[in-house]
Amino acid sequence: MKIEHIGIAVRELSQSIPLFEKLLNTPCYKTEQVESEQVTTAFFKTGDSKIELLESSSAEGVIARYIDKKGEGIHHIAFEVADIEAEMKRLVDAGFVLLNDKPKRGADNKLVCFLHPKGTNGVLIELCMEMKDQ
Ligand code: ZN
Repeated sequence: MKIEHIGIAVRELSQSIPLFEKLLNTPCYKTEQVESEQVTTAFFKTGDSKIELLESSSAEGVIARYIDKKGEGIHHIAFEVADIEAEMKRLVDAGFVLLNDKPKRGADNKLVCFLHPKGTNGVLIELCMEMKDQ
């Protein structure tokens, strides 16, 4: 599983997009609202991986609550998988706790599933799989 992207929680995309464009020397190639997660995302290509900036679109959203508690910073690491359902089953059988029982629609045309960070040394892990035919 390669690292598909690293998610970074930010307060203001309007400030962080130009900052990361300067840092990575590459333009933000896409921004996208994910209603189910109450976030707006912004993507940058960095070699074979991506950086995903996450800004909360609501004061009650998970990213807003994360920033209230921990401040801005790395929020999750996403691994690409070929078969998300099979990987979810493998991880549950291995004793990991998933935050969603079924893959859900994430940003960037992906099906995603998160693992509970209590079982992964405090690191929020995302599995993601490219959606086909959509
Ligand atoms: Zn992500």
